[in-house]
This record gives sequence, structure tokens and C-alpha cells, in this order.
Amino acid sequence: MSVSRLPLRVAPIKGETLPGFTIRLAERNGVSSPQTIAKSLGSPYSTLQAAALGPFDLQPVSDGADVPIETLASMTYWPTGHGNELRFLETTVDPEMLSLKHRKACPSCLSEKPFHRAVWDLQLVTACPVHQVRLISTCQECGRRLRWQSASITNCLCGADLRRASTEPVPSLELDGLSLIYAVLGLNGLEDKRTGPVADLDFKDLLALMLHLGWFGSGARKRFAPVLLSRRDLAPHQYLQIGFMACQDWPTSFSHYLEALCERSTAPYWRATRLRLLAEWVTAPERSEALRSLVFPRLREFMNRGCDPRAEYHLHRTLSVAGPQSSHSRGD
Ligand SMILES: [Zn+2]
Ligand SMILES: [Zn+2]
Repeated sequence: MSVSRLPLRVAPIKGETLPGFTIRLAERNGVSSPQTIAKSLGSPYSTLQAAALGPFDLQPVSDGADVPIETLASMTYWPTGHGNELRFLETTVDPEMLSLKHRKACPSCLSEKPFHRAVWDLQLVTACPVHQVRLISTCQECGRRLRWQSASITNCLCGADLRRASTEPVPSLELDGLSLIYAVLGLNGLEDKRTGPVADLDFKDLLALMLHLGWFGSGARKRFAPVLLSRRDLAPHQYLQIGFMACQDWPTSFSHYLEALCERSTAPYWRATRLRLLAEWVTAPERSEALRSLVFPRLREFMNRGCDPRAEYHLHRTLSVAGPQSSHSRGD
């Protein structure tokens, strides 16, 4: 199929992504495969996810779908050209924060307005703070993971209506971190209630901080890697919650967090490890100055107060080789 201009149009929705929009275009034009539409509009990629990560020339899409090129670009996750950061809605994210392999969705959100929300593509967004339920990622009829090949936002490839899927409730006390993510992105009318120095962090830094504090606060003994998320007992949004608690009343909440980090385990070696990994993370050359100057002085202050002697030794070793302005690279 080759079309220069699609017969039927759909209007992009705020918070929507290029893959989601392409699926709605396919559905509206009665084309069974969204990839066919994407190809006919000039995407050189074989999947919608790859097109979302681009880049490619959006002019044919703009002409074919009758949507301004800037609007289409704002629906992509294309590299911004600064480091390895990617475009995300009005802001940016680190690539490791995105998870595009499979679709996730909130059935109630789909019922209210059938479009794919970009925020669902974030690795840590595994619940909906608006409807207080876990997102679904599997079809309850055919048991398969939700995919991007269906020419329908609301239905699985097997035909099952995702809006009717049963959902698992999530207690509201696990949703503060997620609610903050939604608020900072300006979604669903949620209010950004941050105060103090944490309020100055941009979205990318805030997300990275909450994730890493949540990661180490959960007892993790390795550096964070997306692949490790599924190997642990916590749901991804629960890391955000731990991170949120550490950040909500900075610096008091962070001091309590650090104390808990030292107490959590009875094995001194691990206590030291989590503090050292946190220190390594925040002093890594790719961290922003905003993050470093927020966290680093507090860590140092904590160390100077004296914690476990072995923790102190490891932390001292890390902090002394990787000061705030140091370009020393990570690694043991
Ligand atoms: Zn929802
Ligand atoms: Zn299905």
C-alpha cells in the first residue's frame, strides 16, 4: 500500500505517542496492520517502537496524516543530541527509563479516552495513580503480552476488549511517587506539590533520583539495571514510592533514608555496599550538576556524622576519589 494522503484523519491527543497515534490511524482507515500505515508514511523501521526511537523524516507522515511536523516530533522518543537523553513529552528521559517492548495500559483510562499514554511507556509506571490499579500488560483472554501489532488501542490481537479487563487495586500509599511523576508531566490535572530544593530538579533528574533511592532503599545490592527490575519482588512503581519518601521533605527525609540504609541489613558488608553504590551513582560523570549538588553534600555530611566503620571506609574511598567536580570514571 502506498498513500500520500490518508483518506481518514485522526487528531493527535496530548500525552499520546507516535506508535499509539499510528495504531489509531490504522484503525480509522480500516487497515489491519499499523506497520503498513507506518511504512506507507515513510517509516524505515520494521516496528512502531523503533520508529518511536527514530529518527527519520517526518514530512511524509505530516503530509499523509495532516498533522504538523512539530506535533509529530513531540510524540516521539528521539535523541535530543544532549548526551544519550531522549525526548519525552515536553521534557526528556534517560533511555533506560523507557520500556517499549510490550504495551501496558490502564483499562479505566482506555474507557475514558481510548489512546495510548506515553507515561505508560516508562519502565517504572506499572500502576495508574488516577484509578489506583495495576496497569495490565497481558491479555486476559489469550494470555499473550499486549503488542503493538494490533490495529486497535482498545482491543488485543485476539479481539478481547482491554477496557473490560479485570484490574488489581493498588493502595494509595504506594502511589505518591507515581502521582508526582504524573504531576510533573502535567497529566490528569495532578498537582506538583514539591517543595524545597527537590522542586528545582527537572523531570529526568527527579525520575533518576527517585528510582535510584528506591532501588538502594529496597535492599538492592547491585547497581541498577532495567533487566534487574523483573527479578525482584517489588513492583517497579514501589521503587518510586520509596524514592518519593526519601525526597518528600528534603533534607530531613533523606537523612532518615540514609539511616535506614545503614540499618536495613545486619551484614555490615552490605550496609557499606549500598551507601557506596549510591555515592558512586551520584558522583558518576554523567550525573547532572543539579543532582550532584543536591545529594553529594548530604552524603558527605552523613558520613562525617559517623556511621558503621566499614560503611565509612567504603564511602570515604568512593567520595575521596570522586568529588563533585571530578571527572573520575566509575568502576572498581
Ligand atoms: Zn487509569
Ligand atoms: Zn488477547
